[in-house]
Amino acid sequence: MSQGIGTRCVQAGYTPGNGEPRQIPIIQSTTFKYDTSEDMGKLFDLEASGYFYTRLQNPTNDHVAAKIAALEGGSAAMLTSSGQAANFFAMFNICECGSHIVASSSIYGGTFNLIAVTMAKMGIEVTFVSPTASDEELDAAFKDNTRAVFGETIANPALTVLDIEKFANAAHRHGVPLIVDNTFPTPVNCRPIEWGADIVTHSTTKYMDGHGAAVGGAIVDSGKFDWMAHADKYPGLTKPDDSYHGIVYAEKFGKEGAFITKATAQLMRDFGCIQSPQNAFLLNLGLESLHVRMPRHVENGLAVARFLQEQDQVAKVSYPGLESDPYYELARKYMPKGGCGVVSFELKGGRAAAESFMKKLKLAAIETHVADARTCCLNPATSTHRQMTDEQLLEAGIPAGLVRMSCGLEDKEDLIADIQSALN
Ligand SMILES: *Cc1c(COP(=O)(O)O)cnc(C)c1O
Repeated sequence: MSQGIGTRCVQAGYTPGNGEPRQIPIIQSTTFKYDTSEDMGKLFDLEASGYFYTRLQNPTNDHVAAKIAALEGGSAAMLTSSGQAANFFAMFNICECGSHIVASSSIYGGTFNLIAVTMAKMGIEVTFVSPTASDEELDAAFKDNTRAVFGETIANPALTVLDIEKFANAAHRHGVPLIVDNTFPTPVNCRPIEWGADIVTHSTTKYMDGHGAAVGGAIVDSGKFDWMAHADKYPGLTKPDDSYHGIVYAEKFGKEGAFITKATAQLMRDFGCIQSPQNAFLLNLGLESLHVRMPRHVENGLAVARFLQEQDQVAKVSYPGLESDPYYELARKYMPKGGCGVVSFELKGGRAAAESFMKKLKLAAIETHVADARTCCLNPATSTHRQMTDEQLLEAGIPAGLVRMSCGLEDKEDLIADIQSALN
């Protein structure tokens, strides 16, 4: 699509017909009515497209998913009940017991746990690599049973920036797709598919919703990965599915549709992690202003990061928009308009200093959340990442005294004044 990102935020995914609702209708219905069993049978056989049960698909969700596909430049997309469900489905759609994943070690704690603990119990192995791994180090991480590479554009909360092209090239050298969690920059600031990513995931709970209103996730397929060219690796996509009378997803739906159709027809059917149509409606309200909000989050994030950098009580500030940040050049390459409003910093005095600082903040609330209109903050070591050992924390770039501050849409002067008085 040649339209600008703002026009897509506002209008993509839903075009009402004459006399139809201007806003995406909330189809608050678990089920859909048919005149004949034959009509419905065609849907169950994937011979016709349509709706029969909201555990698998709902029209409200599909309009919003189509908007997110347009924003990322993908061929197809689906909504999930959460970002966790999105990342699990994206990986489990092409992995099974006996598969192996290469993942950046600098990722969200929930995703780390999902891969390292829960998916391990399913017989899926992982090799974690540094986001700064060289081509040789990346190549060494692959095995015969590797089926996917996973990373985060801007990692939550370490704020490392993924070298998307390097990771995509490594994945493609080994005949597997790159899955990128693009939650933090959103497609307004970075579109991983343009740099070679094959599948993009989101926690829509964050900036896409942007108002702390609805938990949700999304998966976008670029439609570019050639499953048939690697048919032996992906039997789920390239061999007959007995639960749908032997259809072959990659043949019937092509490169553009196979991945999302399979994830809907099998994983949504069996796990049922659907986003509620109400939440999809709220998500769309957020998407309509995403391109207006993101620049303000970036402006506030940069101002707060620059202020923190000059304070004696602060040992270190991570924000890829700072010239002194080790990821500055990568951030400029992949997100020239800026990344996000999240700033991580380490207070001198570790965990205790972080806790007493956070207690004194008045505008910034202590919350297990980021990417909200309201500024919030969190100490990962005692909350989101408390299941990780100190060794794993350091490997993921998260010292115990780290504070993650998500700068909202308030006036930056007020945010800085709040931080200043808490530091004093
Ligand atoms: C929050 C988050 C998730 C998990 O999303 P939920 O919607 O909370 O399930 C995954 N990845 C990243 C980068 C996140 O920030």
